[in-house]
Amino acid sequence: MLRLFFIISLCVSLFGAEVEQKRWPKDKTYLGFLQDHHLPLRDLYYNLDKDDQILTQEMVPGIHYSVVKKEDGTVDQLLLPLNDELQIHIYFDNGKYFFEIIPIIKTKKTEAFMLHITSSPHYNIIKETHSVKLAKIFISAFQNSLDFKNNIRKGDRLVMIYDQFYRLGNEFSMPILKAAMIEMQGKKHFIYLNYDNEYYNENGTKVQGFLLNMPVHGARISSPFTKRRWHPILKRWKAHLGVDLAIRRGTPVHAAGSGRIIYAARAGSYGNLIKIQHSDGYETRYAHLKSFRRGIRRGKYVKKGEVIAYVGTTGRSTGPHLHFELRKNGEAIDPFKIVQVTKKRLRGRKKAKFLELRDKYNKEIYYHLNHQTKFIKKAKMPRKCYFSKFTLLDESKE
Ligand SMILES: [Zn+2]
Repeated sequence: MLRLFFIISLCVSLFGAEVEQKRWPKDKTYLGFLQDHHLPLRDLYYNLDKDDQILTQEMVPGIHYSVVKKEDGTVDQLLLPLNDELQIHIYFDNGKYFFEIIPIIKTKKTEAFMLHITSSPHYNIIKETHSVKLAKIFISAFQNSLDFKNNIRKGDRLVMIYDQFYRLGNEFSMPILKAAMIEMQGKKHFIYLNYDNEYYNENGTKVQGFLLNMPVHGARISSPFTKRRWHPILKRWKAHLGVDLAIRRGTPVHAAGSGRIIYAARAGSYGNLIKIQHSDGYETRYAHLKSFRRGIRRGKYVKKGEVIAYVGTTGRSTGPHLHFELRKNGEAIDPFKIVQVTKKRLRGRKKAKFLELRDKYNKEIYYHLNHQTKFIKKAKMPRKCYFSKFTLLDESKE
């Protein structure tokens, strides 16, 4: 009900008004952005709660945001997407600016195509689709099980079935590969996204493996991961893109997995922050640290379990704890889903369900092979925003 209200209020206020779509500039902070637009820092940042303040640091360079201006050229409304689920909505009402976090209305379309490989899967997917993201999800799904180098023969083919997301008529967020096939010297290799959100080959063997250790020992979870949650008491949308592990100040923090440190410095509400880049597009983040271990700096390679820092309460934090985050291709996921040891091979009922899914995808893959399904580039929507566009967006709740 409330969700509908947001959409309607947005439709009414945007009706006839021109919506400018702009790209978030590199190195622009949310606070800097507010200052540039003469927006009140107190109402739109300093008075926000801790979780919301931390979310304002999610703005990614290059992402499309939307602005509606008043007649005098000042901001009337802003929509700033934080991830593929949530966006900041800033709006002017009764002489005052308001901040709220609302769900993103996006349309999901399952798309598929087949192509002949003339050079490499990476090259040909980009040549055909102009999408680096599509090439990336294809390569990363196969990378632990197949070696494309020297094994592709001219005339080999590939098929991709994936979910593409659209927001305001533009492609939005990372597509999700559902199933794929690649021929190597004529032999077909398959991959399927199973119900557990992991990739398996045709025999039901998991092909991607990534395992995390707990970064601190003996901690209590003081705040769990919530990607998008309606808070019934506060009556608003909340998100906590990590887990808070409450533990004594000074407790050593261990690298949850091996990887390269890509950030080790102060970062606004996060306080002292470390980011580690792992394989397969995974990244872990450790926030509110008291201090870094000696020698820990950007560019350094660390091993799983190695001490990297000490628990503290720097940044926007109410007490000593570790805010621990896991990202896959930039998207926040629940780290505890990856922390547990997972079985490599499916068995029993889970295997039977997987085989059903595999056979359904195989039918589709062979259909696209036989029909030589071509990639279709979706036409860009006009920049002007009309009511009809929002009714169209409304269709996403299928
Ligand atoms: Zn936290």
